[in-house]
Amino acid sequence: MANPKWKTPRSKTRSRRAANWKLSPVTSIECPQCHSAKLPHFVCPACGTYDGRAVVTPKEDHAGHSHG
Ligand SMILES: [Zn+2]
Repeated sequence: MANPKWKTPRSKTRSRRAANWKLSPVTSIECPQCHSAKLPHFVCPACGTYDGRAVVTPKEDHAGHSHG
């Protein structure tokens, strides 16, 4: 018989499959502007800058009203 005598137990199948998914650790770097933790390649949520430029306006009550 070329066949295995026993079928693979469920626990073995599951543990084999469970070994394939990997946990991605949450990476964070320090913002060069405000030195708070932020995600790499993301605009800093604290100061709203990326690569030394102001990209978005950080959370404020009134953002840039120059009328009147
Ligand atoms: Zn920042």
